[in-house]
Amino acid sequence: LVSRKRHPEDTVVHVGEIPVGHDTKTIVAGPCSVESEDQVRQVAQALRKQGISLLRGGAFKPRTSPYDFQGMGIEGLQILRRVADEFDLKVISEIVNPADMEMAEQYVDVIQIGARNMQNFELLKAAGAASRPVFLKRGMSATVEEFLFAAEYIVSRGNSQVMLCERGIRTYEKWTRNTLDISAVPILKQESHLPVFVDITHSTGRRDIQLPVARAALAAGADGIMLEVHPDPSVALSDANQQIDIPRFHTFMEEIRQTGLVA
Ligand code: PEP
Ligand code: MN
Repeated sequence: LVSRKRHPEDTVVHVGEIPVGHDTKTIVAGPCSVESEDQVRQVAQALRKQGISLLRGGAFKPRTSPYDFQGMGIEGLQILRRVADEFDLKVISEIVNPADMEMAEQYVDVIQIGARNMQNFELLKAAGAASRPVFLKRGMSATVEEFLFAAEYIVSRGNSQVMLCERGIRTYEKWTRNTLDISAVPILKQESHLPVFVDITHSTGRRDIQLPVARAALAAGADGIMLEVHPDPSVALSDANQQIDIPRFHTFMEEIRQTGLVA
């Protein structure tokens, strides 16, 4: 069902009234984790200024260590919803438990399935039964084929509104947090009709190369990019080393627009 052979036209995902994919380029931005209403509001204001409509933020955080910040849970989703409504934005947030899917639909416009859960098949099935578009991230050790099968789980359960996100894979290379598989972008575009995103934050794990990486992603045919923005990354409760602050985000947006790759 996700194959372009069966369905040659690009799928346009509708996030409310906002189209994603085909001839649009979409930016998804926001903090790694929701930490407070004020924090989310500062980022939301920056998005609004840039004419960006999709606000991300993690409320349920799948952390490597059980002692790391696990996210604000439902309260985090409520903050996202309130702030998004205030600035006329759409909410995208990760859900980790199939049992939370119905609850999440009250607060989010897009359900994110994270890299660590790309092969959580019960979660994929629950997302397939949901009435919200899904932002599916590639597992850190998943092949392109496994990634497409994960999307197939969702679409085959009745939800055709799926966006794919390449977020880097595990290799021996240490100078980036993950290795961005840039070739996955044209391959996914060729194999599938679904919109394809590149996460320039988690794939690189560093701030200094985000602009060339974003350029490369868009030039390779990505329909959009995702990045993490925090009012004060140095005190962030997760991913403090890689989020960019608001002035840097504005600079990034100006520079990426100058390339003509995004409107
Ligand atoms: C995220 O985007 O919030 C995230 C946790 O990324 P990933 O699942 O790709 O590691
Ligand atoms: Mn993060």
